[in-house]
Amino acid sequence: MSREPVSVVDVIRAKRDGRALTDEQIDWVLDAYTRGVVADEQMSALAMAILLNGMSRRETARWTSAMIGTGERLALRADRPTVDKHSTGGVGDKITLPLAPLVATCGAAVPQLSGRGLGHTGGTLDKLESIPGWRAELTIGEIIAQLGDVGAVVCAPTPTLVPADRKLYALRDVTATVESIPLIASSIMSKKIAEGADGLVLDVKVGSGAFMKDIDDARALALAMVELGHDHGLRVSALLTDMSVPLGRAVGNAVEVAEAVEVLRGGGPGDVVELTVALAREMLALAGLPGDPAEVLASGRAYETWCRMIRTQGGDPDAPLPRAGHVHVLTADRAGRIAGMDAYAIGVAAWRLGAGRTRKEDPVSHAAGVICAAKPGDVVAAGQPLLELHTDDGDRVPGALAALAGAVIIGQEATGQEVIDAAGGNATNAASRPRLILDTIRA
Ligand code: URA
Repeated sequence: MSREPVSVVDVIRAKRDGRALTDEQIDWVLDAYTRGVVADEQMSALAMAILLNGMSRRETARWTSAMIGTGERLALRADRPTVDKHSTGGVGDKITLPLAPLVATCGAAVPQLSGRGLGHTGGTLDKLESIPGWRAELTIGEIIAQLGDVGAVVCAPTPTLVPADRKLYALRDVTATVESIPLIASSIMSKKIAEGADGLVLDVKVGSGAFMKDIDDARALALAMVELGHDHGLRVSALLTDMSVPLGRAVGNAVEVAEAVEVLRGGGPGDVVELTVALAREMLALAGLPGDPAEVLASGRAYETWCRMIRTQGGDPDAPLPRAGHVHVLTADRAGRIAGMDAYAIGVAAWRLGAGRTRKEDPVSHAAGVICAAKPGDVVAAGQPLLELHTDDGDRVPGALAALAGAVIIGQEATGQEVIDAAGGNATNAASRPRLILDTIRA
């Protein structure tokens, strides 16, 4: 057996004692972990030392390059600028679905290698798999061909993309070391840099339904990712966006696809439209392309690109989407204005109804989810629907209801007039909704 040039115990000890890792140590430890020479328990100890003692900008940049070096760079290029988006994940976050075809319609190529849901946040691939026939797994040749023909691809990452992250992320998940900013930033950015797009817009979520509950942590993560992209020659910017309330009204799989299609047809909830257009503007700016995404979205032309994108991956965009066998309606116990709606609780409820998975090999129910019949700012009458719980298995309803205890806050009693307006469907108060786009960070 050949001798290894670095001792893993020295690497762990250095970080445990608060010292910076050398470039050689970083390159070796990630390569050796991917080869199986560094054991899971040794990498767990190192991940915990990094979580506790951090890494500098130089260490994080080198860690990211070393992660990329464990796999293959894809160079997903087309005859036009390529630009991608990454969201740190939230509840009801179906933005990729309208965004990829919208930005492609505006002239960019959008390679969107996406994930599946784990825990209370949904996964884009799980949502799209509710479309009959749609296929997530594509070869590199298929991805490049579709980027050229349609301009937008949403698919699973290829197996050779940053294999170190595949192992390390699974390890962090079970060793309480996910929440380290250098490890999150390098995990996300290594995959995005290895994809080979020209530009990347990050949607860093903040609030109960997000990884980052606190705006200062979200800003630090966004900054670390923007710096990493910049250090690797990628054009990158980040929006910090609110995730204290679910995005849109639908949370789940097929229900989110249906809402995304409404947006692509020029309708849909205002917050989904607002965020889709804001991210599209940022992506087009990075790609150096002109055009008004709001106008393109309203025209329905992005819907045509959506249909081509779905068909090219074997799906039927006109097929009926799965519908749940049971719908349980949660109603308002009194009249008033909705003052708050906890994104995390609603994400957990959708997950318990079957929309999400506990272990990565679990199946999901495509029909399961939650529809928010009312949102913060809306005025409701007593007995009016607040949330619809959709599931294929009625036995799941009590668990979802338990998650929702206290999740919807009904404020001060509304006046009679406002309640009458609510029944007419127009009594919303935009001023009482949280601001959606909290900040923008550019390199
Ligand atoms: N998403 C990733 O890909 N990696 C992380 O570490 C966290 C979120």
